[in-house]
Amino acid sequence: MSILNEVDVLVIGAGPSGSIAASIMHQNGLSVQVVEKMKFPRFVIGESLLPRCMEALEEAKLLDVVKQQGFQQKDGARFVKGDRKCDFNFSQQFTPGWKWTWQVPRADFDTALASECEKMGINIAYETGVTDIKFHNDHSITTVETKEGFKEIKAKFIVDGSGYGRVIPRMFGLERAAKLPPKKALFCHITDPKRAQVHEPNRIIAIVHNPSTWIWVIPFSNGNTSVGFVGDPDFFDQFEDTPEEQLRALIATEPTIADRFVDADFVWEPRVLQSWSVTTDSFYGDGYVLTGNVTEFLDPIFSSGVTLAAVSAQLAAHLVIRTLKGEKVDWQKEYMDKMMQGIDVFRTYVDCWYDGTLHEIFFTPNPREDIKGQICSVLAGYVWDEDNPFVKNHEKNVKGLAKYLAATGNN
Ligand code: FAD
Repeated sequence: MSILNEVDVLVIGAGPSGSIAASIMHQNGLSVQVVEKMKFPRFVIGESLLPRCMEALEEAKLLDVVKQQGFQQKDGARFVKGDRKCDFNFSQQFTPGWKWTWQVPRADFDTALASECEKMGINIAYETGVTDIKFHNDHSITTVETKEGFKEIKAKFIVDGSGYGRVIPRMFGLERAAKLPPKKALFCHITDPKRAQVHEPNRIIAIVHNPSTWIWVIPFSNGNTSVGFVGDPDFFDQFEDTPEEQLRALIATEPTIADRFVDADFVWEPRVLQSWSVTTDSFYGDGYVLTGNVTEFLDPIFSSGVTLAAVSAQLAAHLVIRTLKGEKVDWQKEYMDKMMQGIDVFRTYVDCWYDGTLHEIFFTPNPREDIKGQICSVLAGYVWDEDNPFVKNHEKNVKGLAKYLAATGNN
């Protein structure tokens, strides 16, 4: 497909935020060109989805194609610390909404979304990376590098969904360090023949390995399971071996998963990612909006990344449509403040996970089911539901509850 040289909207990146935004804008009559640096399928991490992202997929008319992929259904999450465990079932969440979602190998998931966009008639140019953008009064000129050389695309608006590429923040010096301390992850897809004896695959597991390190276990419908350790970068420095030797050694030290994966094969050499928490002062500017990971990515513990990518794309798409119709849009209030509201709820839960506050709540021997349902809604991604006291007064209620449980010996 040749690249359109003049469009209403240029979308950078064909990850979930790019595909969802492109689809909604295309359905509303805008001409859209997506440019994607990589050839698909490509690997990206972020395999555990949250129910809230289903609403964005549905509006983007991308839900049916995901259903057809036969991905592992996800009905909840289990948290484990020593011999204590806490199950959250989305069916028991407080907020009305989706009660399930999926666990997905992202190469397949993202390819399904992008291919469906192409079937709708959206032009996606793969192996086409943005190298320069010049903003003018009512349009921008973006230079992209393709296999055939450089090309220019004129657009009225740009949606930057470039994920870890962070095209516009990097190009225009908008990057800011996030407030969270740096973390590192070591992870792999692993064969999982013993799964049936130990784990219902329709939920992910997050295991507290030591006070600052936790492990994700995300089973896929193809029989493999994604396993990753996340912790302070120093924690991993104690190992000088190859990534595979490191990961095998770490798995062997964690009783919850040691037996399950002792003889398992690694599907590929384990990968390392670190220092992913980053933000920008503003998520919008004249002629552009940032979506997904380009806005702010916190931490993988509560699987918020794809859901925030999906919700930001959905919201941004509508605001771009209105802007290009000539309507006045208050980007600060309608986009930035709205996104920050959800991000800040997740930030409280991430902070309270790492400082141990949430452990007091999750692993209490006497949980109150109504409160658990309210926290479950946050873990389902319904972080904008102000009827939920654990959303509206997130920090006060989480910290207050943990203090109460500690004071009454219920921790
Ligand atoms: P991406 O999925 O990153 O897509 C961006 C696309 O833009 C890419 O395809 C890229 O090739 C393209 N691109 C980049 N630069 C350019 C350029 N110059 N020109 C053109 N195209 C470009 N999230 C979850 O929801 N669940 C999880 O379980 C989870 N686990 C995680 C574990 C770890 C260790 C980390 C670090 C993150 C995790 N995340 C998770 C977060 C998740 O990876 C991201 O939030 C999610 O992928 C964001 O989607 P996106 O569409 O914004 O960007």
